[in-house]
Amino acid sequence: MLRKRRKTKTLILGDSLSSNVYVTQDLKDLSDSIILSWVGAPSSLDGWDFTNTCIDRLPLFLEKTECLEYLGLEALEVNYNYVLIGEEESLKTKVSLLGEDTYYTWYDLFSRKYNRVYKPLLSWCQVIKILRSKSRIPRLYANIRSIDPSEKIVLLEGGATIEYENIVSSVPQDLLLSKLRGVNLEDIPTNYAYLPYSISLIISKIDQKIRDDEVIIYALGRKRYIASHAILLKAGVNSKNNYVLIYMLTPLKQGASKTEVLIKNLSELKNLGIRVQDIMLIRSYVEKYGKIFRLKKDPYDKLLKELSIKVIGRYGSWEELSICNIINTVLSSRMKHD
Ligand SMILES: Cc1cc2nc3c(=O)[nH]c(=O)nc-3n(C[C@H](O)[C@H](O)[C@H](O)COP(=O)(O)OP(=O)(O)OC[C@H]3O[C@@H](n4cnc5c(N)ncnc54)[C@H](O)[C@@H]3O)c2cc1C
Repeated sequence: MLRKRRKTKTLILGDSLSSNVYVTQDLKDLSDSIILSWVGAPSSLDGWDFTNTCIDRLPLFLEKTECLEYLGLEALEVNYNYVLIGEEESLKTKVSLLGEDTYYTWYDLFSRKYNRVYKPLLSWCQVIKILRSKSRIPRLYANIRSIDPSEKIVLLEGGATIEYENIVSSVPQDLLLSKLRGVNLEDIPTNYAYLPYSISLIISKIDQKIRDDEVIIYALGRKRYIASHAILLKAGVNSKNNYVLIYMLTPLKQGASKTEVLIKNLSELKNLGIRVQDIMLIRSYVEKYGKIFRLKKDPYDKLLKELSIKVIGRYGSWEELSICNIINTVLSSRMKHD
């Protein structure tokens, strides 16, 4: 069988926020590079195309604005209304992973830790599109079968190979390690914990008015709610009408089915006194790594360094890094190079 062979200096895994910031900052050095991404595994910033715009799959907020300013983007301060319904303890049971002593999710963290919260003027899916268009580097969408770190060759499904000098990886660290050949790594699952979320998005009208700079977060600390958070924002679609984006996040601890979760979420909105009318869109998906948690501290850092594999981003580092943490880390590593 004829095998396609490619060579590259730096192979960047994942068409992610972190890879694109890394590439945009290091373009001079990375002219001989490729971004290789798994088919059908998007960035958390990717959205859904809908009525000439794109809708974020997740609502994401920032703790400061400088990180966006570095990228030449503007931010808006958000009026962050956080309402806990029920008990903190019950919320903790829904979202905490074994061995984790704090229970915070992103949405609880903002209300406790920061005085101010921001979001970009554009949607996140527009932001990632802009970053990708700036980082003009070849992209390849294919699944990796294996990585041979001693020969520095990646074998793709279908038989093609890529020879590399260095790897920069933003894909889940457990997945990256599981692809390495010739390295003894039997205990991967015992080091990486994660909690999948079912995330439903409803675009509809409701009785309440929500301003452009406002977000309402309901943290659902009562057993009667299976979701952990309901998040309401003004929708940027059809500006004449008061449509809202309603995100419902449900931690999948008991493996409930997607349809069941969506139906239950609609009745939970009713219990919250939110009358959903004139539904324009309903979508839901499972975010496999809704929450991630390291069971041991940096078990493979030394090994990855020895194998010339640099890890970046939330999944690559397997740490709950914020968007600002990611941008700042990539920028400061660039400054060290200069
Ligand atoms: C529910 C939730 C809420 C969040 N809220 C906030 C917030 O409010 N503020 C904030 O700053 N951050 C928030 N974050 C974190 C934020 O999403 C990340 O910090 C940022 O998007 C990560 O960027 P990244 O470059 O690491 O990864 P991403 O841009 O998400 O890219 C991940 C890469 O990994 C690859 N990948 C993922 N899964 C697989 C798989 N199974 N197989 C193969 N490849 C895979 C994808 O192809 C992609 O290239 C939140 C995260 C979650 C899950």
